[in-house]
Amino acid sequence: PQRLLNKVAIVTGSSSGLGRAIALAYSHEGARVVCGDLRPESRPHVVEETAMNTDELIRKNGGSAIFVPTDVGDTEKMECLVNSAVSEFGRLDILVNNAGISVEADDPRPLHTTPNETWDLTMRVNARSVFLGAKFAVTQMLKQEPHRPSGDRGWIINISSIMGSIATEGNPFYCASKGAVSSLTRQIAVEYAKYRIHCNSISPGYTQTAIFAETTGSGMTSLDDLRRKHPFGGPGKPEDIAKFAVVLASDDAAWVSGANMFVDGGYTA
Ligand code: NAD
Repeated sequence: PQRLLNKVAIVTGSSSGLGRAIALAYSHEGARVVCGDLRPESRPHVVEETAMNTDELIRKNGGSAIFVPTDVGDTEKMECLVNSAVSEFGRLDILVNNAGISVEADDPRPLHTTPNETWDLTMRVNARSVFLGAKFAVTQMLKQEPHRPSGDRGWIINISSIMGSIATEGNPFYCASKGAVSSLTRQIAVEYAKYRIHCNSISPGYTQTAIFAETTGSGMTSLDDLRRKHPFGGPGKPEDIAKFAVVLASDDAAWVSGANMFVDGGYTA
């Protein structure tokens, strides 16, 4: 049986990489999907992708999806994203705060020479977005009937990073922003457990997407180095993260909240 049947999910950063894989996996499991991104087209990256936009591909495969232009750092846009889920599909069960940027991946620097603007932009897109998404999603989840038969009211999944838990040279603000994501995840989990809203974060390791191509391209790390450091042989694929995001949004994770799950091929072990 499909594990997300009758659930409505928002996925941010859905046009490329992990967000695209998560949106496709959710649809495959029966969810109706609201895709939120700056633009509907995918960012170019190392692994060949179909030219079709995520929402179009879902509909072509027989699923339900819409695209809503969204800047995740913008309050009104995030409210509009949640409202669009409700006006199109009648409710909201799952929010995946996935959109993120790594400004420093293009130009790795130590903290004291990184421009202040990099801090502001990184925190806006990676951390403020999680607060805004949770704020409007929870407001909606509290208004609606709980999901049946589980009785749960909602699932919030935040995409953090292993960099939120380990320090690396050259990208101090990205690491700090992801630390904020994992911390905010625990706050939301504790605050809304009484309403049966689950909140967990996934900390992906190196996964082959556009951000990954920037990180290896800038010399911050190399493919050979990554192969050596991964007990499972090398960097992961977006689908490796998406499979786990399905579990966290399903009734199989009924007893999981406030967790930060490393999905990294053993890199941090
Ligand atoms: P990606 O660049 O392939 O995709 C990110 C998507 O987010 C893009 O479609 C982009 O348009 C969108 N986006 C960027 N800024 C936005 C904004 N302000 N509003 C709305 N959408 C915006 O990157 P990815 O690797 O798929 O990254 C997805 C998430 O996973 C990010 O939060 C990233 O930090 C995290 N992550 C990635 C890796 C990795 O190795 N790829 C590892 C750990 C964590």
